[in-house]
Amino acid sequence: MTILSSFFKKASTAFNGYSSYSKLLVVCTLSSGSLLAYSESQPDVSTHSVEGDQSESKKKKVVVLGTGWAGTSFLKDLDVSSYDVQVVSPRNYFAFTPLLPSVTCGTVEARSIAEPIRKIIKKRNGEIQFWEAECTKIDPSKKMVSCKSNLNKNLVGNSEFSLEYDYLVISVGAQVNTFGTPGVMENCHFLKVLKFRMQELEDALKIRRTVSDCFEKAVLPGLSEEERKTNLHFVVVGGGPTGVEFAAELHDYIQEDLVKLYPSVKDLVKITIIQSGDHILNSFDQRISSFAETKFQRDGIEVLTGCRVISVSDKEISLKIKSTGEVCSIPHGLVLWSTGVGTRPVIRDFMEQVGQPIEIAEWMSNVYPIIYARAFVFQTDRRALATNEWLQVKGCENVYALGDCATINQRKIMEDVATIFEVADKDKSGTLTVQEFQDVLDDILVRYPQLEIYLKNKHLRGVADLLKDAEGNERTEVDIEGFKSALCHADSQMKSLPATAQVAAQQGSYLSRCFNHMEQSAYNPEGPQRFRGSGRHRFLPFQYKHFGQFAPLGGEQTAAELPGDWVSMGHSTQWLWYSVYARLIGLLLLESRFALIVVVNGLHINEFVLP
Ligand SMILES: Cc1cc2nc3c(=O)[nH]c(=O)nc-3n(C[C@H](O)[C@H](O)[C@H](O)COP(=O)(O)OP(=O)(O)OC[C@H]3O[C@@H](n4cnc5c(N)ncnc54)[C@H](O)[C@@H]3O)c2cc1C
Repeated sequence: MTILSSFFKKASTAFNGYSSYSKLLVVCTLSSGSLLAYSESQPDVSTHSVEGDQSESKKKKVVVLGTGWAGTSFLKDLDVSSYDVQVVSPRNYFAFTPLLPSVTCGTVEARSIAEPIRKIIKKRNGEIQFWEAECTKIDPSKKMVSCKSNLNKNLVGNSEFSLEYDYLVISVGAQVNTFGTPGVMENCHFLKVLKFRMQELEDALKIRRTVSDCFEKAVLPGLSEEERKTNLHFVVVGGGPTGVEFAAELHDYIQEDLVKLYPSVKDLVKITIIQSGDHILNSFDQRISSFAETKFQRDGIEVLTGCRVISVSDKEISLKIKSTGEVCSIPHGLVLWSTGVGTRPVIRDFMEQVGQPIEIAEWMSNVYPIIYARAFVFQTDRRALATNEWLQVKGCENVYALGDCATINQRKIMEDVATIFEVADKDKSGTLTVQEFQDVLDDILVRYPQLEIYLKNKHLRGVADLLKDAEGNERTEVDIEGFKSALCHADSQMKSLPATAQVAAQQGSYLSRCFNHMEQSAYNPEGPQRFRGSGRHRFLPFQYKHFGQFAPLGGEQTAAELPGDWVSMGHSTQWLWYSVYARLIGLLLLESRFALIVVVNGLHINEFVLP
């Protein structure tokens, strides 16, 4: 019994007798059906018609690239009465990626975790236009994007067009990273989209078909035992949450369903996870890694740590054992590649165009104090597009980037320490009193959230604690040097945000709120005081709220790392996991076709999201 189906059975039993509720307990199971091209008619997307529409519009033009977690969450709350919104994406549906591993094993139907974009935007009275195409080029100097439709080549008409924008929202996600390993593209399966393919759901279904093919091939007459074993060897490269969840789902699927259908080969099946680090789930608390490794050992899932894959052929996977340098090859029936994410070509090209201006005076001043200049540093070696804390792409005022394709460059407090001191020192005495510091503390905490984390981690209760000298004595005032030494360790608390749906969805909601308050904020700014410059920032910077992370481990066991360093593992955590994901779907896609979401917390139903 796979995780989700068991959940629904349990939920049905729990609410037995409540017929109206029971009807709702059918999440994500709309017919059998294979995926999944939403074939709603496409409007004419010729260059001419699009540009013609734009010239007539007086509203500000917003172009949104991508219909994933970030883009969809932005569109969901955007006040479209103020903007002329156009959405470009090669995928005409939103995919609920956390349930993709369940699609590979048939626990959830592919179409049940997809919501057509046209359905989402229809709720906005048709005020949003959607073009099923890929953005191929962003030209910030002309404020224009070039797009290309990859729809059926036999259809007539122009497939290339361009769109002008006043605001551009880039939320194109990331692509799978093969690290240039030979044979990966040709011989592996993926749950994250590849460069030239955009359909995760099709990939998930392909995995499902291949697993079935592996079993069918293994039971054919005339195969040696070795050949049967090879066909039934499922290898997962990457021991992160996705790889681990896939291995766990596959294990349950095989043990609970497939071995009953193919009893003659049940003892020949093997699942192996290859991980380059020392442990699987190494972004989690160490207790969770150990719990997962022990569980997998019990389940017979082999975990090879400290190994790097060097090539993959259609029959074998070659790996190098990092500690000894030894190279070995293992035969396989199916390889799932699930290792990190890389940058899409359109983003790489855009990064090269805009570069990142930095003021070189700061780091040159010690050596050549008279030099003050600006330099453009290209970010070709960076994973994602750098933005400021308001999600604006650095160097492009009206371009925003969010989700997996972007990374926030949090400003360091030490870069601004002198100006903060100057602003705080109201009486210009050259020293800062506790009260003067206190007066600007709230603005500092909002602008540089790393300071709040630092105060918390060091158990400091406020300004007085922060200003204590090295011996722990309180000081009533400090000069600039004392101020610098009080703040100099705060920046060590800065961390990049993870590439997750949680982050992407929160960024989308945050940005739509900013867009909705664009006019008001011009005369009534809501952000913190500007330390470099005058007045206040128009908006509060984006602040991520972490609700924890989950790792489903199969056999109705889940591990969770929750805020406040709380770690939970086992069966009860599984229910927590259902609850959180149900809530996530509900928050993003209210009234969706996902039909039923029952949020169970303990033994109480908290929330239904109705069809
Ligand atoms: C199997 C799997 C399981 C996961 N599980 C979890 C989980 O449990 N919890 C969690 O928090 N995160 C999870 N993630 C990560 C999460 O899915 C991503 O972080 C999230 O999708 C990022 O959202 P996004 O909007 O930035 O990108 P995406 O959701 O990837 O969306 C990108 C969008 O951009 C479109 N696009 C691509 N190229 C172009 C282009 N050139 N022009 C226009 N549009 C383009 C795509 O078609 C897509 O619509 C999982 C990911 C995978 C693959």
